[in-house]
Amino acid sequence: MVKGEIRNVVIIGGGISSHTAALYTARASLKPLIISGPELDQLSLTTLVENYPGFPEGVQGPDLIANCKKQAQKFGAEYIEGFVDSFKKGNGFYEIGVGKKKYKALSVIISTGASARRLGIPGEDKYFGRGVSTCAVCDAALYKNKVAVVVGGGDAAMEETLALYKFAKKIYLVHRKEEFRASQIMQDRILKLKGDKLKIVYNTEVLEVLGDKLVNGVKVKNNKAGKEEIIKTDGLFLAVGHVPNTKPFDGVVELDKQGFVKTNGVKTNLPGVFAAGDVQDYIYKQAITSAGTGCMAALEAEWYIERVLGK
Ligand code: NDP
Repeated sequence: MVKGEIRNVVIIGGGISSHTAALYTARASLKPLIISGPELDQLSLTTLVENYPGFPEGVQGPDLIANCKKQAQKFGAEYIEGFVDSFKKGNGFYEIGVGKKKYKALSVIISTGASARRLGIPGEDKYFGRGVSTCAVCDAALYKNKVAVVVGGGDAAMEETLALYKFAKKIYLVHRKEEFRASQIMQDRILKLKGDKLKIVYNTEVLEVLGDKLVNGVKVKNNKAGKEEIIKTDGLFLAVGHVPNTKPFDGVVELDKQGFVKTNGVKTNLPGVFAAGDVQDYIYKQAITSAGTGCMAALEAEWYIERVLGK
């Protein structure tokens, strides 16, 4: 005998994969419950998205997300806020914990995404929110006539630099290698701006964040010459990739060595548990692939309930 309602589907996460899974499962009359935490998804932290099909002029990331959620709600998807901190397999159901509150579900879609990686250097935590940031797109306007350091060599670093370029008086883009890994189009946009206002610092690592009340500099080291120096700056923007949000699933759902959910398509090692979006994808990580896997997970959940459980 199981106490409490057992939901058909619980979707954990609040990004585009979650909303897509919510839309599909709601339209399949499965009455999904979506539990999402306080952290914003990647699209809500970005500005213009130019590579999501169907929007020839581009679409603002936060608008895209808000509309996807609205679309799912229109078909009856139920959303609640909550930070999922436990997950276990019960007898004929899965149990999802949000503190003391427990939710039961026949099928679960994990779409908890990935969070901005930190460098783990002295001063980083102390000055987080006081000059250290993971979102230039959010904070760029505060850097009018100020100096900023961006660290990273991927698309996010390029995008953060472009966002800051509109406001800051000087930007240092610091990368640990000699070549960026960002897409060519993003690199080209940055390299075109290289000059007095934008300095690109290759082969260099950030060692420490310096400041008093707020950030006033970063200590860096050229890893070829071994030389250390201090760059005076008002802010440090981290764009060094993401780590998957899989802590509550560790030990229950199979994860790879970097902590991403291991999937075959969107299937995990547990029957009825599927994963979609960045939490299971370290290769493509695009809005459209995330939405695509959200759709796949929803269809798999529907088929699992119908064909395996016979409900
Ligand atoms: P990426 O994983 O692509 O890049 C992370 C960067 O951070 C790499 O250059 C890496 O260096 C560097 N890095 C990682 N750890 C450290 C460290 N400890 N110290 C210093 N540098 C470090 O992540 P992104 O967030 O940039 O992009 C993720 C995905 O999102 C990608 O698929 C990207 O295409 C997509 N994206 C697309 C955008 C767009 O199209 N407009 C915008 C933003 C993201 P190294 O190169 O040496 O490994």
